[in-house]
Amino acid sequence: QEKVNHFRNLHNINVVGKNIPNPIISFDDIPIKQDLKDNIKTCGYYTPTPIQMQTIPTMMENRQVLACAPTGSGKTAAFLLPIIYQLQGPQKKGFRTVIVCPTRELAKQTQRECERLAEGRGLRIHVINKISKAVEQFGPNSSKKFDILVTTPNRLCYLLKQEPPISLENVEWLIIDEADKLFESGIHSFRKQLEQILVACNNGRRKIAMFSATHTPVIAKWCVHNMKGLVRITVGQRNA
Ligand code: ADP
Ligand code: ADP
Ligand code: MG
Repeated sequence: QEKVNHFRNLHNINVVGKNIPNPIISFDDIPIKQDLKDNIKTCGYYTPTPIQMQTIPTMMENRQVLACAPTGSGKTAAFLLPIIYQLQGPQKKGFRTVIVCPTRELAKQTQRECERLAEGRGLRIHVINKISKAVEQFGPNSSKKFDILVTTPNRLCYLLKQEPPISLENVEWLIIDEADKLFESGIHSFRKQLEQILVACNNGRRKIAMFSATHTPVIAKWCVHNMKGLVRITVGQRNA
């Protein structure tokens, strides 16, 4: 344990929570199959970044996380790798992961990184483009031919209000990316949207992972209240 603490200090990793999994030193420390390891290399990733070292094993143990690390520190792969590992391949259950981003451009970037990391797995990753088409595509009677949804909150909440609403009953991971931006853009409206999304994600196995570039007390408070067994991971300066 002392070794683990030393390793975390070395990489500026701060953790708060109970029974936190050990950080990984290398991508070889996680039980992923060779195809995923190859995809990681193809992306040009040779060693995990500090936020990836701690977040990947934590999410792989199905722990809910609030992960804070500066912009450009690899937060996207930190949540995509555990998700791809758990989804394995396509299923006919509809969306099993929802990723909420503040802008459509970020949603598209996240989709692209997911496609690269999940190459060969056959996972279907969707970004909502045509809102009118989406209503019929994602209702409960749809063919459920998607596994991952990447979206902005406005679009998702719009689709939740349609008849029939978009079905999120099989969502196991709800990822909130750039939570600091989402919470700041009309703090109350995003909270309300998040509540609507959580009501729709009514699967008992639903877990939340929240990512942020800054450590924001308002977000930390929300997570402590709403996420059981929360693990808080902060890399770098802890400026409240
Ligand atoms: P953040 O979301 O923290 O701002 P990103 O996930 O967008 O950061 O990653 C920033 C850049 O770092 C991207 O170009 C990404 O491809 C790259 N990257 C991510 N993980 C690694 C890694 N382990 N090694 C090298 N580059 C990485
Ligand atoms: P975002 O870019 O965050 O998805 P937009 O406001 O551009 O949000 O929403 C995209 C589309 O979703 C709009 O063009 C509109 O058709 C529909 N939409 C979103 N929110 C609403 C709403 N509250 N009422 C009606 N339509 C909405
Ligand atoms: Mg990011």
